[in-house]
Amino acid sequence: MAQIIDGKAVSASVKEEVAKEAAALKDSKGLNVGLAVVIVGNDSASRVYVNNKKKACEAVGFQSFEYALPEETTQEQLLELVNTLNNDCKVNGILVQLPLPKHIDEKAVIDAISPDKDVDAFHPVNVGKIMIGDYSFLPCTPAGVMRLIESTGVDITGKQCVVIGRSNIVGKPQAMLLLQKNGTVTICHSKTKNLKEICLGADILVVAIGRAKFVTGDMIKPGAVVIDVGMDRDENGKLCGDVDFASAEQVAGYITPVPGGVGPMTIAMLMKNTLTAAKQQAGIQ
Ligand code: NAP
Repeated sequence: MAQIIDGKAVSASVKEEVAKEAAALKDSKGLNVGLAVVIVGNDSASRVYVNNKKKACEAVGFQSFEYALPEETTQEQLLELVNTLNNDCKVNGILVQLPLPKHIDEKAVIDAISPDKDVDAFHPVNVGKIMIGDYSFLPCTPAGVMRLIESTGVDITGKQCVVIGRSNIVGKPQAMLLLQKNGTVTICHSKTKNLKEICLGADILVVAIGRAKFVTGDMIKPGAVVIDVGMDRDENGKLCGDVDFASAEQVAGYITPVPGGVGPMTIAMLMKNTLTAAKQQAGIQ
C-alpha cells in the first residue's frame, strides 16, 4: 500500500519558510512584498483560485492587490492595466488568472507582463530560462511537484521519469525540471502508442492530462512515485484526479491524493516566486 504524499503539509512548510523570510526582510530592509492578481469575467472556478491566492498572500504577510474586471473588458484595457502594474513599485508580482474571455489574446497579455514580475513563469523569457537551467522563477505547478517528489526522499538521478501531458504550463516544464535533476525523461501525450507499457517502466510518474481516473493501478510499476496533477470531476461530480487512486495506491510506493496533493503546492510556490521577485527587484540575493 502506497504512502500518501501530504501536499497540505508540504505546502504549509513552504509557506512558513516564505512567511519567515518575508518577515525578516521587512524588519531588516523594510521590504514589503506585493502581488497583483487580475481576473477578467465571472468564471466561478477562477474566482475560487483568486480568493485562495489572496488568502495565501495574507497568510505569508504579503500585500495583495486584486483587479476584478468585467467580462467585456477589451484587450487594450487589460494591456494598459498590465503596463501600469509593470511600472508600479508596490507590485512585485503580476498574475493574470487564466483562462481569459475568448475575445482577449492570452499570449499578448502574457507577453506584456514584465519578465521580472512574471511570477507564473509563463513569459517566453522565463520559459527560455527554464530550458537552459538559468531561472529566477519556476512555473508553480511543476515546481510544486518537484517539492512533493523531494519530500519522499526518492532521488531522481538515473530514474525513469514519465510525464503524461505536454502542455506549456505543466507537462513540458515538468519534463525539463525532472531532466535537470538527472532523471531519464519520457513525455507522453494523446498520440503516444503503448502508453501502458511506457507507464509500467516509470519509477516516477507525473500525470497531467485532465481526464478523470485515466491512469489505473495496472499501469503502475510496483513501488513507483505517482504524482497526480489532474483536477477533474468524477461521475458524481466529486473532485478527483487523473489517476484512479483506489487501484493506484495498491501498487505505488508513494502517491498524491486529489484533493490535498499538487493543488495546495501551486499556490505555495506562487508565494515563493513572489518573494523571489521582490528580492530581485530590491537587489537582495
Ligand atoms: P491541457 O493543456 O489540456 O493538456 C493536456 C495534455 O494531456 C495534452 O498534452 C494532451 O495531449 C494530453 N492528453 C490528453 N488525453 C490524453 C490521453 N488519452 N493519453 C495521453 N495524453 C493525453 O491540460 P493542463 O493544463 O496541462 O492540465 C492537465 C490537468 O492538470 C487538468 O486536469 C488541470 O485541471 C490540472 N491542473 C492542475 C493544477 C493544480 O494546481 N493542481 C494546475 C494546472 C493544471 P495532446 O498534447 O496530444 O493533446
